[in-house]
Amino acid sequence: MTLFEKIIARQIPADIVFEDDLCLAFRDISPQAPTHILLVPKKPIPRIGASSPEDQALLGHLFLTAAAIARSEQLAEGFRIVVNNGSHGGETVPHLHIHLLGGRHLAWPPG
Ligand code: 5GP
Repeated sequence: MTLFEKIIARQIPADIVFEDDLCLAFRDISPQAPTHILLVPKKPIPRIGASSPEDQALLGHLFLTAAAIARSEQLAEGFRIVVNNGSHGGETVPHLHIHLLGGRHLAWPPG
């Protein structure tokens, strides 16, 4: 069971900001911006590179949910969505997650 499956199952506590049948959003334990939320599907897809055509509706739902959470977090000045994939991408938890970052100006390009 991945760390995020344990958070979904309430075996590990988290500061949950949104939940529905398909996904869970909670605050990152090590925030990199004033708002830093992780949005994960309840289906344990390891990473975006391991998703398949059958996940199309779920992936769309995650993007729309991230945008809705950005609105509820009042990130009207802007925000960034990040999906890390694999070692070079900086992935540390093998359960697909969208980072939603906002509340400050974010530099580009990323490190
Ligand atoms: P990744 O590096 O895989 O893209 O992102 C994993 C994220 O999970 C990191 O930003 C890290 O801070 C966060 N994280 C790791 N362990 C925990 C935890 O136990 N609780 C929460 N809320 N976030 C965690």
